[in-house]
This record gives sequence, C-alpha cells and structure tokens, in this order.
Amino acid sequence: MRLSPHAGGLWIRTLIAALCLACVSCATQAPGLTKSKTGEDLTTAPLSQPAPEDAERADKPHSEFRIAAVGDIMLGGTAAPELQKYGYDYPFAQVQPLLKQAQIVFGNLEGPLTDGGASEVSKQYVFRSPPDKVAPALARAGFNIVSLANNHSLDYGPQGLADTRAALVTAGIHPVGAGSNEAEARAPVYMKANGVTVAFLAYSLVFPEEFWAGPEKPGTAFGHERFVRADVAAAQAKADVVVVSFHWGQEGKTELRDYQVQLAHAAIDAGAAAVLGHHPHILQGVERYRQGVILYSLGNFAFGSYSNTATRSVISLLTFRDKQLRELRLVPLNVKNAEVVFQPKPLVGPEATEVVERLRQLSQERGTDLEDQEGTAVLVLK
Ligand SMILES: [Zn+2]
Repeated sequence: MRLSPHAGGLWIRTLIAALCLACVSCATQAPGLTKSKTGEDLTTAPLSQPAPEDAERADKPHSEFRIAAVGDIMLGGTAAPELQKYGYDYPFAQVQPLLKQAQIVFGNLEGPLTDGGASEVSKQYVFRSPPDKVAPALARAGFNIVSLANNHSLDYGPQGLADTRAALVTAGIHPVGAGSNEAEARAPVYMKANGVTVAFLAYSLVFPEEFWAGPEKPGTAFGHERFVRADVAAAQAKADVVVVSFHWGQEGKTELRDYQVQLAHAAIDAGAAAVLGHHPHILQGVERYRQGVILYSLGNFAFGSYSNTATRSVISLLTFRDKQLRELRLVPLNVKNAEVVFQPKPLVGPEATEVVERLRQLSQERGTDLEDQEGTAVLVLK
C-alpha cells in the first residue's frame, strides 16, 4: 500500500509530532542554525522552547532521550521514476512512526543533493538527487542530522557538496563529516535533546581518496585514528554524549575489517557512547565495548537500487537516561526493493525473528548478547 505524499494529514501529523518531541534543537521547519567562527555548527534555542526552560531540564535527573539511526539513504538512481510518481515522502511512509519515537534522527546520506556541479566521471556509480525535494522530505520524515562522510558526497564535485550542505541546512538538517576543508569536515555538530548536549562526528574510510578533505580542500573527514581520538576528546569536553559515525568496511560482507574494530574501540576509549557504521549495505554485528555500543553496519535504508544482497536492515533506537546509553533496540526492516519498491517496511513474525537471529549470531562473534524481544533485537546496558 503506497501512501500519497500529499495525504492531507501528513503535515499536521508532522507538526504535532514536532511539537510533542521534547526540545529538539533543530525542528523540521526553517532552523535556527548558526555557524561559529571555528566552523562548528551550532544550534540556537529551539523555536518552541525558551532557552531557560531547556537549561532547567538539563538539571532534572533521569532526563531521557532517544536517537534513531539508520544506514545508507539515496533517493535517486533507479528509484527516480518511483519517487517522481509517488513523491519524496513515499519512502518513509511505513517507518515514520518509528523515527518519530526519537528526538534525534540520524542517517548516512549517500549522494549529493544538487542540480549542478560536475559529475565525477572516473567512478562507476555517481548519484545525484534534487535538493528541493529530498532535503525537505528527509526533514519531514524526522531526520535532523545526516552524515556526508561517504564515498558519494563529491560525485558532483565541491559544488555538489556545497549545494547538499546548503539544502540540508535550509531544511533544518545538520550535515556532518564533510565540508569546504578538513577543519569543517571534522567539526562536531552539537544538538540538544531534553537538555542533554549530544555531539556528532562523522568520518569516511572509503575510497576514492580524492574525496577526503585537506587543509584547504573540500571533502569528507578521513578517519585517521589520531583525528578520531582528538576530535572525540574535544567534543566530549563540550557535550554530554558523543556519537561517532564511520563509513567503512566491505560492501556486502558481514566480516569486519580489522581497522573497523580498532577505530571503533579508539572512539569509545576517547569517550564516545555510540559508534554508527555503514557502507557495506548489509547488516554487520553489534558490539558492546566498555561503556559504549558499536553498530558496525546499519545496512541500507531507503536506497535507490535493486540489490539482491541488501534485503534486510534495521532502525536502531538508542535510549539515553542520565546522559548514559541504557538501551539499544534494533527493529528489523525489509529493504529488498524488488518487494518494497524503495519503501523500507518494518518486519514482523518469522521474518523479523530471522533478522534478529542473524544479528544475534553476528554480535555473539563480538562477545555481545542481544535479546530477542518479540522480533526486536535488544541490548540493555546496566
Ligand atoms: Zn558507501
């Protein structure tokens, strides 16, 4: 069943949901984003909440908030005809209630939002999506932060990257992990949820090397271990919670590369609470490490290709209380586009159990026991 993107109640539901969400700094409407002199994205006070009230909440014990995180998003490619026909809200119709459970919604945006720029011809696949359609649709779906640190953000050159960042900011979404130089690409994004400051950092470990930013070169933040350690430590000094995103690993493989484990551990050793991985397009295992959690690969989310391997994925819901990660829930999704036609669909029954079982196996290899709670994989952190 396909939802018309212009269904009458959608805007109203979005508005109500936005008002109900306690204190998210960047709502889905035009944001109060500002730019510091150091290139960090900062948020102004949320539109509907005065700053003093927010400060008061910060002192309240048991302040709880949730982050929803998904993997690769690309609203173009072979999905273009469907998106033009059904609209750009269509991919999110089945998952929006899940995303709306979180104050912060993160994804990896794999491909520039631009009508211009020059195509990077040496690559096999180059992606591009219309900025005026995709950015607002992502915001309406609930996304307020996306990583651009991946192997497609410069498919249409520096201009394509600049257009992407501008379109996202206009829609109220923070871009992280790419910028007009290395400092901007490595700069943390700070967000507020129920008075808790959450910093996001994002890095790409994937070729082409030309996409990695330099001191005076636009591009993505490369995940040198020394960058990761320094950036996490610096972000932690200003934030209550630090989340690190990595674009890494091998496409279509559940086996981890050694550097994934090394970098994930380095991020958590430096103070990160969660590591969000993507790029393999399929799910990889979860690891509990010290006080943190590593999701090695979140798999595909709404992605414009027909793949026989990228068929199952999850929406991950990370619940924080008292500034500590307390629970991880992984809700299985069908992302096999031959079946769901670019509209990720939550799985139930035996199909959900199968995904949970697979995740349990992959995570056991990392010494981590996920529970199957009625078709959802759950990790409770004591
Ligand atoms: Zn990728």
